[in-house]
Amino acid sequence: MASPPDQPTPPDLTTPIDKLPGVGSKRAHALAALGLTNLGKLVAHLPMRHEFQAGEAKIAELTPGQIVSTRGDITATRPVFIGRLPRFEAVLMDGTGRLDLVWFNQNFLRDKIHPGARVRVQGELKRRGAKLQLANPRWEPLGDDEPASRRERLRPVYPASERIKSWEIEQTIAGVLDAATAQIEEHLPEPFRRERNLPTLAEAYRMMHRPESEEEVAAAHRRLAFDELLMLQLGVFLKRAHLRGSLRAPALRHSAEIDQRIRARFPFALTSAQDKVVADIVRDLTTSVPANRLIQGDVGSGKTVVALYAMLLAVASEHQAALMAPTEILAEQHHANIARALGGSKVRVALLTGAVTGPERESVLARLARGEIDIIVGTHALLTETVAFHSLAVAVIDEQHRFGVHQRATLRVKGGTALRAVSDQSRAHGSESRTTKSRATGSRAAPEPEPSTPHVLVMTATPIPRTLGITLFGDLDISTIDALPPGRTPIETRVVTPDQRADAYAFLRERLDAGEQAYIVVPTIDDGGTALRAVNPNESAPGSESHTTEYPGSESRATGNLTNVRALMKELEAGPLAGKRIAALHGRLKRQTREHVMERFRAGRIDALVATTVIEVGVDVPNATVMLVEHADRFGLAQLHQLRGRVGRGAAKSHCILIGEPATPNALERLAVLADSADGFVIAEKDLEIRGPGELFGSRQSGASPLRVADLMRDRELLAMARRDAREWIERSPALARPEERTLLRRLLKAYGETLGLGDVG
Ligand code: ADP
Ligand code: MG
Repeated sequence: MASPPDQPTPPDLTTPIDKLPGVGSKRAHALAALGLTNLGKLVAHLPMRHEFQAGEAKIAELTPGQIVSTRGDITATRPVFIGRLPRFEAVLMDGTGRLDLVWFNQNFLRDKIHPGARVRVQGELKRRGAKLQLANPRWEPLGDDEPASRRERLRPVYPASERIKSWEIEQTIAGVLDAATAQIEEHLPEPFRRERNLPTLAEAYRMMHRPESEEEVAAAHRRLAFDELLMLQLGVFLKRAHLRGSLRAPALRHSAEIDQRIRARFPFALTSAQDKVVADIVRDLTTSVPANRLIQGDVGSGKTVVALYAMLLAVASEHQAALMAPTEILAEQHHANIARALGGSKVRVALLTGAVTGPERESVLARLARGEIDIIVGTHALLTETVAFHSLAVAVIDEQHRFGVHQRATLRVKGGTALRAVSDQSRAHGSESRTTKSRATGSRAAPEPEPSTPHVLVMTATPIPRTLGITLFGDLDISTIDALPPGRTPIETRVVTPDQRADAYAFLRERLDAGEQAYIVVPTIDDGGTALRAVNPNESAPGSESHTTEYPGSESRATGNLTNVRALMKELEAGPLAGKRIAALHGRLKRQTREHVMERFRAGRIDALVATTVIEVGVDVPNATVMLVEHADRFGLAQLHQLRGRVGRGAAKSHCILIGEPATPNALERLAVLADSADGFVIAEKDLEIRGPGELFGSRQSGASPLRVADLMRDRELLAMARRDAREWIERSPALARPEERTLLRRLLKAYGETLGLGDVG
């Protein structure tokens, strides 16, 4: 039925904000500035919290002894300094009566509440002789036309702005809420919802914006949080199903003989922790389901050897393998180590970084495409460049870095996509030059798709707390190298207070005098520390300063100038380390400069590096035995552990000295975890407990977390439920392609399509 032409059409969810009834252009602009450009977005703007609001009444109607809410004009104010506590008094009138307001110990209010101001106040009403009084009432300035609500209720408090107040947002939403919720499509089937006792999406939104009770707020929260988690998990499982269903990787051969030949290349026996992971990898790589495995292990646990095992397995089946490192210098280091381990064998190893140029580069690329290189080592740029492989079977990404979960997923997904493109090319290439080496498929009735993607292994030294790892990496299998190779001298870690700095540096100097080297880490580069972090908040490159952990308020506490590289360099050169060769290293230096400094340090031509966390990803310098961290209280525990991994790589005993500011709440206790434990997992769990999981998604400033309502810590149970449900769902319906899943799939792709690289799924 068409509506009569003179009747305005009711708004739908896509109706622009300025076309909504009752929204003037000023308000529309202010809402648009918050990103609320249409009705759908407006209704998706959820309150941060709810406040109990007593029904408003005139002063004359108020009953002493009750929590009351009223409004009026401030007619007089005065600060009072007699008595035990200073207090601020004000008089409120509304034409029906007079109410005395008093706030204790809040004299700053005299700058905020002036005679003539219109305010709403709420508090417990007391009779004081003939007078009515509210002590320490909640108060807020009132807009001229802000309506009074005579009913008691839970008032939503919205994220607002200078231009538009929470109550105005509330008023706008209230005006269109019913029209909006009537159109919110449900994407969960009714029985599914009922079984889990979840309200409909429309009900959930209504209950968030206009709750009848605390219970409704909780129910709405539960539904919306569950939705987010379910979507995320569905996305993860969908991706996995897609990979498994549509792509094939080369199934590699494995035998006792191959195993022996590979192991003979290592100068040591693998630890049983490494053996376990090798077994996982062998299981993966001998099938044609593309592997997607995260190999996590503490710094120094021996991940590279395990990766090399996987790569040699590819070579044994006459395929190629690639190892990608986050920096050129690390790629060079990997290349040198692998070339050394494979010296005298027939395996052809090559390096491809930005530094390999000209005819040499041409040659490497050509040989790679012809299959004359078995193992290529390069930077992550190998992923993005159009490098043609002859037959890439195993791609190892050495991350060595604390990417947030979010970034890691993106990297992996990007990696997967790029690598697929690469190997598609190689297939095209291979088919014209010579027959492909993949197994014959003739024996099967339905021909298997040809190998088109490599197995992907990601190595990381950033342990993901067990509780979260399983949940967030539904699409990644995880193997953990959970013990260090034998014969390591543990690093001695000490937490000291700033008044022991002189001793700490005296000790460090002794080590330098003995011919050893040191890292000295500070939170920022120069005095513009805060600004610095904002320089490139999205930079996820290794060593990016944006990863520096911040604790609220730590900036303002930082007195003195020892938080930054430049100032500390000066101080050390003039005093404690006078005469020593020290150099600065930080993310604002050019990459070449950085690598040059690192190279000189490795060669022993620099005694101490004064650095930011760029050194977190680093080259092995066995002679570096001291790690000193200034303002250690400003770093996350996992990050400190990672930093500490820079030392303890040689035979000599290593030391880690954490200078912590005792003024920071719990700082020393937090740091003590590091002194007590050398286990990255224990530390990561503690870190999670202390800081919450938000940061795992990457830097909070860049808004990387896809979760708006759910909180991974608080909503752990919902998370477990969402994970179980998502797995079962995708098992039943691997592509979410049923007609009744259309809304769900659309929303899923909208929410996580980009993050999870689901572009080719929908
Ligand atoms: P990470 O996990 O930090 O990448 P690496 O693979 O670089 O660790 O290994 C750290 C060091 O330990 C290397 O010098 C490596 O040769 C050595 N290593 C690895 N596995 C073993 C083992 N099973 N026994 C003895 N040394 C080992
Ligand atoms: Mg390594």
